[in-house]
Amino acid sequence: MENKFLVCIDCGQDFVFTEGEQQFFRDRVLAPPKRCPGCRVAKREEMETRRNETKRLLPDTKQCIQSPGINNGREVSHNILV
Ligand SMILES: [Zn+2]
Repeated sequence: MENKFLVCIDCGQDFVFTEGEQQFFRDRVLAPPKRCPGCRVAKREEMETRRNETKRLLPDTKQCIQSPGINNGREVSHNILV
């Protein structure tokens, strides 16, 4: 086996897919990388940011689901008062 050159799908530049990396990917039955190391890091950061955004959005979604219930509760107590 020898080093291969792959083309990054993000920036279109050649990057080295080293013998060691090929071995690593083959051992784990992974598809060869599509991105150069720089774009891989950028992509991973983008994914983490997106995951964090999703985490941040979830509590808001829950609050949205809960608020009609709270409003209903208020309406009920309001009706009782009237
Ligand atoms: Zn790239």
